[in-house]
Amino acid sequence: MTRRTAVVAGGGLAGLAAACQLAESAVPVLLLEKRPFLGGRAYSHQDKSIGVEVDNGQHVFLGCCTEYIAFLKRLGAWEQAHLQKRMRVPVIDKVWGASMLQSAPLPPPLHLLPSLLGFKSLSPAEKLGAIYAFAQIRSVKREKSTQLDDLTFEDWLQKRRQTPNAIRSLWNLIVQPTLNDEMSRVSADLALMVFQEGFLSSRDGANVGWARVGLTSLLGEAARRYIEERGGEVRTGVPVTGIELEDGRVSRVLMDGEALTADAFVLAVPPPAVLPLLPAPVASDPFFARIASIQVSPIVNVHMWYDRPVWQGKFAAFLNTPVQWAFNKTRLWGLEGPGQYIDISLSGAHEFIQMSNAEIVEMFRKEMESPRRKAARRDLLAAAGGAAIAAGPGDAGGESLPGRRLDRHRLAGDDGERCAQRSDGGRQHAGRNNGTGREGGSGVRLNSRRCLRRRPPVAILHRSYL
Ligand SMILES: Cc1cc2nc3c(=O)[nH]c(=O)nc-3n(C[C@H](O)[C@H](O)[C@H](O)COP(=O)(O)OP(=O)(O)OC[C@H]3O[C@@H](n4cnc5c(N)ncnc54)[C@H](O)[C@@H]3O)c2cc1C
Repeated sequence: MTRRTAVVAGGGLAGLAAACQLAESAVPVLLLEKRPFLGGRAYSHQDKSIGVEVDNGQHVFLGCCTEYIAFLKRLGAWEQAHLQKRMRVPVIDKVWGASMLQSAPLPPPLHLLPSLLGFKSLSPAEKLGAIYAFAQIRSVKREKSTQLDDLTFEDWLQKRRQTPNAIRSLWNLIVQPTLNDEMSRVSADLALMVFQEGFLSSRDGANVGWARVGLTSLLGEAARRYIEERGGEVRTGVPVTGIELEDGRVSRVLMDGEALTADAFVLAVPPPAVLPLLPAPVASDPFFARIASIQVSPIVNVHMWYDRPVWQGKFAAFLNTPVQWAFNKTRLWGLEGPGQYIDISLSGAHEFIQMSNAEIVEMFRKEMESPRRKAARRDLLAAAGGAAIAAGPGDAGGESLPGRRLDRHRLAGDDGERCAQRSDGGRQHAGRNNGTGREGGSGVRLNSRRCLRRRPPVAILHRSYL
């Protein structure tokens, strides 16, 4: 049996952030990742037919993801990312026309006022109602309210007299991509956190950032170098198969054919992967058993390549069309023409997950091609998907840090964060969580075996990796 100082299981953003932090503190850490590459859900791969790097997840981050931004800077990867100097989000409403949600040079929360007043998708009465709801959101003391997590955000908004159109056209526009589910399913507590931290506490919290290269190029290998240069070790293609305990402390970490002891152990695997690693009595402890009840919600990415430009925007949110958000990767990444690569992201994609690849591609091809753009002949498909933790009522609650239950052991990533959110400082950060930014991570998202089983062959491109 080999003795180690610190072992991290899981090479997604959470595990990489933990391992980099340990390496930086001169702890000779060992990172074990099951798959042959690093990055977890935030990975990309080279599409052979197109010759372009294709991302699986994490389209954008926000200015409030301060830990994530700091992580990229530490890795020396910041030059390959871009963050808006002020928030500017085009909203293309197919019925009411285009608007720009942007931050004005006014102190928060007034910075949102001009674009809210000019937002074409709301009636004048709805705009006044939205201003009232923003004022209410600002004044909510989430840490003092235990009931918020039992409510959906839709319930919360309805109590503030928001109309169905305002809920769909304004609130859902932000909530669905950040919490990866519909308003009728997401927890009011988590949605309020998104608005408080991202939109109301500063003028820059909702500035939109993106990688200018594929996620694997941005993160995975940079993190590996960072760890190794500081005396750590990274092993890919090595799954942790179990954890053993003695006297309530982690005593051994099992891999195929090898066992390790360590002074500290960080478990940064997705929630569905946690319980099978724990000894049965620990897995059935009510505290850990809660992990099994974490719901998931599907995400579908539709990657479309055209032989010429069909859309000039960099990215936009859409209303009154099945498209939710679209990213013009050709512009965001500065790819060479003449073709164009557009990535359509569908969060909380319950209806799309049931459809075939061909149906999805046909639907979005039509949506992206206006009569003026009809010239484009070649489109290509690939719907890729994953799933994220559904940020439903009850999910934000938790009694204490999971790590307190097992000595020398911490949970990191979506699961750990979700369990820890209510009691630690995690709620100070907005949005999704990935272990590196916003709540120590950017995302309440993860891939789920359950979702994959339910999913018909939509996610051909990435499915086998999830
Ligand atoms: C399609 C999609 C779009 C997204 N878009 C955004 C976005 O726009 N903005 C945003 O902020 N977030 C987004 N996210 C969420 C973000 O990507 C995730 O929150 C984040 O990557 C999760 O990181 P993690 O380290 O917690 O988990 P993961 O990335 O799931 O990493 C866990 C790692 O553990 C490994 N593992 C599992 N079992 C074992 C084992 N037994 N032994 C060793 N290793 C193991 C896995 O292989 C994986 O590499 C998106 C996610 C998806 C899927």
